[in-house]
This record gives sequence, C-alpha cells and structure tokens, in this order.
Amino acid sequence: MTQPEFLSQPAPFDGPAFEALLSDLSRRAAEVDQQGSWPEWQLSRLAEEDVLGWVIPVEYDGSELDGEFLIFGYERLATACLTTTFILTQRNGACQRISGCDNDDLKAELLPDLVAGRLFATVGVSHLTTSRQHLSRPAVLATETDDRFILNGQIPWVTGAKFADYVVTGGTCEDGQQILIALPTSLPGVTMEEPASLLALNGSQTGSIALQDISVDRRFLLAGPVKGVMQQGQGGGTGSVATSSLAVGLVGRSLAHLMRESDRRPDLTEVVEPFADEWSQLRADLYASARGEGTATTPHLTSESIRQRANSLALRSTQALLAATKGAGFVSGHPAERGIREAMFFLVWSCPQPIVSAALREFACLVD
Ligand SMILES: Cc1cc2nc3c(=O)[nH]c(=O)nc-3n(C[C@H](O)[C@H](O)[C@H](O)COP(=O)(O)OP(=O)(O)OC[C@H]3O[C@@H](n4cnc5c(N)ncnc54)[C@H](O)[C@@H]3O)c2cc1C
Repeated sequence: MTQPEFLSQPAPFDGPAFEALLSDLSRRAAEVDQQGSWPEWQLSRLAEEDVLGWVIPVEYDGSELDGEFLIFGYERLATACLTTTFILTQRNGACQRISGCDNDDLKAELLPDLVAGRLFATVGVSHLTTSRQHLSRPAVLATETDDRFILNGQIPWVTGAKFADYVVTGGTCEDGQQILIALPTSLPGVTMEEPASLLALNGSQTGSIALQDISVDRRFLLAGPVKGVMQQGQGGGTGSVATSSLAVGLVGRSLAHLMRESDRRPDLTEVVEPFADEWSQLRADLYASARGEGTATTPHLTSESIRQRANSLALRSTQALLAATKGAGFVSGHPAERGIREAMFFLVWSCPQPIVSAALREFACLVD
C-alpha cells in the first residue's frame, strides 16, 4: 500500500525500522481507541525512531524533512494509528511555530529537548482560526506590560493539554492585535479542564485550558503583537495538506480492509476498483501539492480541494467498509466501526468554513 512512486525519491526514514514502528502502532490502535488513554508508549516509540525531529531544524538536532516526506510519514502513521498521529501533528504544529519564530534563545532552550522527547509541547490556537469566530469578545485577552503579557480567558481546544510542558497559544489585545506565545503550563493560574468525551480520538486527551491572570515573561513570545498572528511564520495551517494526509491515511486503512473482503467476495470488486482509483488520484495530487507543484491553472492541487476530497473519500470509504462488513462491522472495536467514527473527525478538526460548506452541500446533494 505504500506506492512510493508518488514521491520524487524514497523517504529518508523508510525502511525496516519504520515498518516495525508502523506494525507496533497498528497492533495497538484498537486498544488506544477503546481505552481512550494517552498513548505514552506509542509516543516513546516515535522518539526512538527519530520521528520527533521531523519538523525541527538540523541545528537543533532535528531532521527537518521536505514537505512531501513529512506528508508521506503522516499518511503512513495515520493508517497505523490515527490517535497517535493526530497527537504528533498537534505537537509538530507547536514545534513548527517555535522553529519558525525569531526568538533564537527560546529555540535553543526548547527545541533539542523537544526532539529528544524530554519536553512535550502542543498547540491551542483554534480560537484564532476556526473556533468561536462568531463571538465578539476574544476567547483569550492579552494585556501587554513593559516586559510581560497578562492572559485571561479560555483556550477551547488543546490536544494533550495535561501532558504538555508548553502550549503554543495566542491572545488578542484590546486594539485587536494578536500575540503567539509558548505558554509554560506550570505558571500559576493555568487550569487544565477535564478532557471532553469525544466521538473518536479520546486518547488525544483533548480539553480546554482556563487562564486566569497568567503573567508570562516576554521571553516566551513567538510572534506579535500584530494583526492576524496566525498568518505570520510557518506551521501546517488550518486545512493544510498535512491535515489531509491523515484523512488519506485513514482511507488507505479502510480500503485495505475492503480489498481483503473483496478477495473472498467478487461482488465487492465493482466498488473497490473505483475507490482505489479515486484514492490513487488523490494521493498523486496530495504529493504534487506538498512538493509545491500547484499553479493558478491547477485548482485540483490547492490544499482546499485536496482536503475537501479527502474528507469526502474518508466518509464514503469507511461507510462502504461498514456496509460490506455488515453487523460484524457495527460491533464496537471492529475496524469498520472505528473507521466510521474517525472519519467524522475530519468534518470538525482544522476545517475552514469553505470545506465545511462544501461538505454540507455534498450532504444536501447540491451540485456545484
Ligand atoms: C478532537 C479534537 C481535537 C482538537 N485539537 C485541537 C488542538 O490541539 N489545538 C487547536 O488549536 N484546536 C484543536 N481542535 C479544534 C478544531 O480544529 C476546531 O477549531 C474546532 O473543532 C471548531 O469547533 P468549535 O465548536 O470550537 O467551533 P465554533 O465555531 O466555536 O462553534 C461552536 C458552536 O457555536 C455555534 N456557531 C458556530 N458558528 C456560528 C455562527 N456563525 N453563528 C452563530 N453560532 C455559531 C454552533 O452552535 C457551534 O456548535 C480540536 C478539535 C477536535 C474535535
């Protein structure tokens, strides 16, 4: 299922050790899903296989992969265990924001320990991008003093909040400018709320963080104050191809199960083939987009088009697997049942409004 022909050259990490990591993650994925517990062992396996350095520059002990290899890694890991891979993307989102900032002292302080797995960071920025955008008051209010920022409010969504040493998060000042900061979670006034019970990915231990008069030293500042701080610097970004690679990985898992079913049941062949063709085309476009091959004349290579198609295929392929596996697939813990719930996640996570609208139009059979 790897089909490395989509890559310009073999991924630097691909080999027996990575295959062993994938089978370790895959073997325990159902357990992570069923128990909803934090996948600590899985994250330590990622550290052992140097996966934690993928988005961190070489000068800070990382391996800073090219975009297409990062996408390939995410896709393959998501096929094995979506929960672990999702946590990795949120952690990498934090690392990318730290790596991409101008604060050299903070980078030298945090990045080597993040690569080694001695520190865990995560990201809580949805209130600046996709969450609570219809509300007039900012979710997190930032007040600037001479050498500090005072934060008050609530960070609505933070994956792995309780396990984090740092949360990359933002606040909005009274004048509308925003800051991005690596918030040490040990500061007085930071309260981790109990993680919400979710439809899927409970192992991500995603919850909100309440901030009451948090006083943060300016040395933790990553960007701002500036208008639209999330549009500055680097990071996967809302609805990026990195987010799509996880949905594509889930499709790969569903199709592998569907293909195994069809080996014994020729009646399934007529649906497996078009699904496999669609997946193959989507993967080709995903990797072309990750290599930066999109131009004004290739609308199918925009991150928005790819995410929209990935969401749709994830929903349809997991439902096809459920229909094919019948009542057995409806039993809690069956790969079809898990896949269905995991596909729903892509409708709400890092999903910009145009992609939500496209999904709603598809559900209502409104053809564009
Ligand atoms: C499992 C999971 C993990 C996540 N992890 C992270 C993470 O680690 N970091 C991170 O930054 N983000 C994370 N997110 C957040 C995610 O990317 C989205 O930002 C989030 O799902 C948006 O949902 P919301 O309910 O906050 O949206 P909101 O837009 O705040 O919607 C909330 C409610 O408001 C109402 N509403 C919405 N729009 C309107 C409107 N225009 N007018 C009136 N009412 C409206 C609706 O009733 C809706 O149910 C995570 C999300 C999930 C589900």
